[in-house]
Amino acid sequence: MNESDRLACLQAMGITVWRSREQKLVRSGCAEESMVSPPRQAQNIAPDPLAVAASLPDQALKVASEAMLTASDDWPSLRAEVAACTRCPLAESRTQTVFGRGSETADWLIIGEAPGQQEDLQGQPFVGPAGKLLDEMLKAAGLSPESVFIANILKCRPPDNRNPNVEEASACRTFLDRQVRLLKPKLILALGKVAAQNLLQTDNPIGQLRQQLFFLDQIPVIVSYHPAYLLRRLIDKGKAWDDLKFALNTYRSL
Ligand code: URA
Repeated sequence: MNESDRLACLQAMGITVWRSREQKLVRSGCAEESMVSPPRQAQNIAPDPLAVAASLPDQALKVASEAMLTASDDWPSLRAEVAACTRCPLAESRTQTVFGRGSETADWLIIGEAPGQQEDLQGQPFVGPAGKLLDEMLKAAGLSPESVFIANILKCRPPDNRNPNVEEASACRTFLDRQVRLLKPKLILALGKVAAQNLLQTDNPIGQLRQQLFFLDQIPVIVSYHPAYLLRRLIDKGKAWDDLKFALNTYRSL
């Protein structure tokens, strides 16, 4: 992506690009080093597997052992199982399940909360206004459609777009874990409080989770705001852009 395309993308996201009078952008594309600050606080999270295993809650151990049982998995089987799922009552109210979209060989896995009305009707995640913003942000960051796979914590729409409850999230977790195991992403970006808290099994607020590096099965996880939230709170778009730069920089350093 050249510099003028990148600036146009950022403008479409509503992000103002500031440059000092002295400093000129010398490289093209926002995926260039010149635009990216070094990862912060990565050293705070020690991915010591023994320490991580010792601190795993029962639920995580259950999820891990469930994942081991599906060692010979494949995308078509998983898609079929998700489409036929009746593990929780959302199966009764959904129009259809929403498995995910993007490339099955993508390096990036982007995880949102749950399908909304449009997603439930179309069977694809992030197809409404929030999805449009997400696509613009990814384009602005130089991420091609082939480099991302987008999925949700829940594969079915909760009525009236309410937050997923614990039972629903836990019933659906095995599907997300299997998606992770099949995709083997190099980086996971969790969008919004619901996605981040469910994925990382924490109650910490998003303000404490963003700009940190976590690991899930040794895959780096970065947290940012949900695009629907950004549509309501334009002022935080700059912070979301910082998170994306942090993610890009982390990805490049792998
Ligand atoms: N919000 C989400 O979290 N996921 C979608 O798929 C759509 C909106």
